[in-house]
Amino acid sequence: MAAMDKQKKTQFQKDDIVTVTIEDISSDGDGIGKADGFTLFIKDAVMGDTVTAKLMKIKKGYGYAKLLDIVKPSPFRTAPRCELARKCGGCQIQELDYDRQLEFKEKKVHDVLVRLGGFPEEVVARASHPIVGMEDPYRFRNKQQLPVGEKDGKPVAGFYASHTHCIVPVSDCMVGAEENQRITATILDWMKRYEIPAYSEETGEGLVRHILIRSGVYSREIMVCLVVNGTQLPHEEELVEELAVLPDMTSISLNTNTAKTNVIMGKKVRTLWGKDTIEDSLHVSNVEYRGGKACFEEAHRQVTFQLSPLSFYQVNPKQAERLYSIVRYDAKLTGKEVVWDLYCGVGTIGCFLAADAKEVYGVEVIPDAIRDARKNAEENHINNVTFHVGKAEEVVPEYVEKRVKAENRRSRKGLVDVVVVDPPRKGCDEKCLQTILEVEPKRIVYVSCDPATMARDCKVLADGGYELASVQPVDQFSHSVHVETVVLMSRVSNEPRTDRA
Ligand code: SAH
Repeated sequence: MAAMDKQKKTQFQKDDIVTVTIEDISSDGDGIGKADGFTLFIKDAVMGDTVTAKLMKIKKGYGYAKLLDIVKPSPFRTAPRCELARKCGGCQIQELDYDRQLEFKEKKVHDVLVRLGGFPEEVVARASHPIVGMEDPYRFRNKQQLPVGEKDGKPVAGFYASHTHCIVPVSDCMVGAEENQRITATILDWMKRYEIPAYSEETGEGLVRHILIRSGVYSREIMVCLVVNGTQLPHEEELVEELAVLPDMTSISLNTNTAKTNVIMGKKVRTLWGKDTIEDSLHVSNVEYRGGKACFEEAHRQVTFQLSPLSFYQVNPKQAERLYSIVRYDAKLTGKEVVWDLYCGVGTIGCFLAADAKEVYGVEVIPDAIRDARKNAEENHINNVTFHVGKAEEVVPEYVEKRVKAENRRSRKGLVDVVVVDPPRKGCDEKCLQTILEVEPKRIVYVSCDPATMARDCKVLADGGYELASVQPVDQFSHSVHVETVVLMSRVSNEPRTDRA
């Protein structure tokens, strides 16, 4: 076997041209296929395509090849709506039919739970629900941050080409709002007319760095914030005059970022026109599973948010409210429960659950997010939620100790009924998981943006006495390889699990 592998490795050389049938998609969205048993990653090739490709890079056991020709197109291949689909780094799998994208994401979640989570196939299959896809996988983003630069002496705005800092000018991004085109064109025209220089990442000189556009999906309010390398804007009045007359314009502001950094926004915002914030809301729906599929009833409540240019907010609110409604369904609250909302961001999940819980306790590491979370709770008249700043793995164990002492408890068990975690891609800290296991909540709802770390963490929870009760993938970013998942882990016993493969 080793000898055979060796042979495969040396069989090809750079610049060789091969014919490959694409069988899978990589975590970067590349097509994956085999030439004589040698695995190749080919950008822009779609699952089911037979393509010719030129070998560009050969590594140990695999290589990268450049797509030359599609010999036989995949039945799942579809014409991308965006002419820049291949150039821009945003949408990696736009040429794959949307239903097939969804299938791929579902399989990805299933496979990691088996491979990394160690759950038997039948357990995963029993717990899994069909992915919640979007009705329309275009025009869903409520926020766009366009880098501004210069090309041939003219200002341009667009996106960075994948893995680079070269701007690909984009006039109409198909996953963004339609009105962004007019706003961007107005700003670029104004820059041209008054010779306002774009910022250069290389020299650190120039003025305009980014255009941020945010729109309220329900409120229809629009916010524009220009990120500039300075505090003053020449011809500010002229810009404001031209932007303010655009339909639904609600807030125009200036953000100062003078640091030589990749971070887009600086800390200071000055409103130039209109309101400081725009409003939007997320709607709470009851969920019913029919034939295993999540169905969302008409919303019966909403949580409203005031968004500044610096606020964190979900970029696909229609899918986010479905995701949160599933969290609420899995939490199975009756009004008596103590709930932890760990990695709570601006408190969205806590605010979603509060009306059905006795008490919610949110933890988040970013102080500004906690400030927003408190404001959000207050503005929505939610008073059974408290928010705490710090790392979940530090704050939660301290909190548990304090409560045990203060209440003179004999055990940590029963301090909390339901725990929701929504960690960043690296998943939960081991200490955080151990503390959750020690307090033995009835249910743990794991919200994930990275299936691999979720599977790893669910394995720890399963070893600690929880069973995989429900797996619900949700598509929040069509045309990308990302997938969100809500997993419900229910407490079974104190015994080590026996159902493992
Ligand atoms: N639940 C929120 C945000 C989830 S994103 C929502 O639905 O909108 C993950 C959040 O975890 C981020 O806000 C990030 O700042 C926070 N975070 C990252 N590491 C953390 C840690 N160790 N402890 C607590 N919060 C953390």
